[in-house]
Amino acid sequence: MVIGTKYETVIGLEVHAQLLTRSKMFCACPAEYVQGEPNTVVCPVCLALPGVLPVINRRAVECVIMTGLALNADIAGSTQFHRKNYPYPDLMKGYQISQYDEPIASGGWLTIDVDGERKRIGVARVHLEEDVAKLQHRQDPGGDGYSLVDVNRSGIPLMETVSEPDIRSPEEARQYLMSLRAILQYLGVSTGNMEDGSFRCDANVSIRPAGSTELFTRTEIKNMNSLRAVYRALEYEVERQTKVVEEGGQVVQETRGWVEERGVTMSQRTKEFAHDYRYFPEPDLPPLSVSREWVEELRAGLPELPGARRDRFVSEYSLSAYDAGLLTASKDTADYFEESLQAGDSKTEILPAKAKAIANWMMGDMAGLLNASGIELEDARITPHALRNFTDLIDSGVISGPAAKAVFEEMFRSGRGAMAIAEEQGLTQLNDDSQLRDAVERVIQGNSQAVQDYLGGKETAIKFLLGQVMKETRGRANPASVTQLLEENLKAGAKG
Ligand code: ADP
Ligand code: MG
Ligand code: ZN
Repeated sequence: MVIGTKYETVIGLEVHAQLLTRSKMFCACPAEYVQGEPNTVVCPVCLALPGVLPVINRRAVECVIMTGLALNADIAGSTQFHRKNYPYPDLMKGYQISQYDEPIASGGWLTIDVDGERKRIGVARVHLEEDVAKLQHRQDPGGDGYSLVDVNRSGIPLMETVSEPDIRSPEEARQYLMSLRAILQYLGVSTGNMEDGSFRCDANVSIRPAGSTELFTRTEIKNMNSLRAVYRALEYEVERQTKVVEEGGQVVQETRGWVEERGVTMSQRTKEFAHDYRYFPEPDLPPLSVSREWVEELRAGLPELPGARRDRFVSEYSLSAYDAGLLTASKDTADYFEESLQAGDSKTEILPAKAKAIANWMMGDMAGLLNASGIELEDARITPHALRNFTDLIDSGVISGPAAKAVFEEMFRSGRGAMAIAEEQGLTQLNDDSQLRDAVERVIQGNSQAVQDYLGGKETAIKFLLGQVMKETRGRANPASVTQLLEENLKAGAKG
């Protein structure tokens, strides 16, 4: 069975992001709810006590408008909250205040880069709702199961971004999520953290005969808490659906949960048991009108976004589009890079070389060391300033290319400066000093054959001698200085 020739994959993603507001969506409780003991970050509104009324959080609306603008969407002049009804113990009121047919933003898009080509993925809508309480399911040994309810999360502003079914592979889905997450992080509206549930994704997926433009029956996968889990769940689900169809069966519309430990999706709820949400306009909240002035004010205050920053890295620092894309995919990485670059004297003529060097160390050795030790860049002990200083010492010949790796590793481990480490470990580069002259003389004396070859006209023999000097000095010699010294000595020897 070959996937991707006979069938085409169709994916649409729904992303819920908790917004970084000070207070909750409809009450004055702080939105910083995680630290609080269970059921302490609550008030009559988010506890849904009778007789209280919700008040719309202005900042949350602004976060959605900014996101809509960043996603090239239309911002509605008037928007409405709706009640979404369903019976579940995580809903304090018995309904969730959400948005239905009048979302704040609609008709946008973002771009992803796949196989070196830029592709647009449509964003159907961005709307605002409230998060629900958190349930903890417990089981006493030998006793009954029960659930505990923590209301702290109830009422946290939640922004839902719904993509068009434009995504064609698990890899594109991963790219879409990274791109969206970067935009939210650049805007400062969400942490984008998947592991702690601040950024959650439901993935809708179907397959269809290659070439078809119809939408076939889809399943919706929930419960993935990392990009890798989304990728794996989609891969599994595409294969499962393909098998169903190949065996003459039909894909059933259902909600499936990803089971991380087993690497499978499992049916949770079929269409038959789908909720009837009975949406209706929220009577406790009037329609919200969004003035053009307000939108324009927010547009004017938008920060530089990932796409623009990537393009600027290409034009300003002459980085490749690929490198610039990697560096700007996360705001922290892009900030670190620019801080490092600006930490020293960067004349325009050396800027591209400096940028390339810093980018290489960040994406090569630094990324490898971070990965191996499970540390985030923001917690790395090498500061942007120290990285800049390190690359400057390489440029000025104080630290040699071969020794640089060891110095960098020690900087990463200890957080100490490059110069101190290189001096202590005897890794500073040997330039035109007596140590180097001694090494050159020793090599010339000990390799008479190569010397004769060179003097007999075989110029490449000097490469061999250079290699010997590098060996003698354990890579600390500056190759250019060595070559010059060798030439001088050999010529002098020939004359004398
Ligand atoms: P619902 O309201 O039931 O969640 P929507 O029509 O709003 O359904 O779609 C939800 C998500 O599912 C969207 O991201 C959309 O792109 C995606 N989607 C819809 N139909 C399909 C399909 N046949 N295959 C894959 N994804 C789909
Ligand atoms: Mg849905
Ligand atoms: Zn409250």
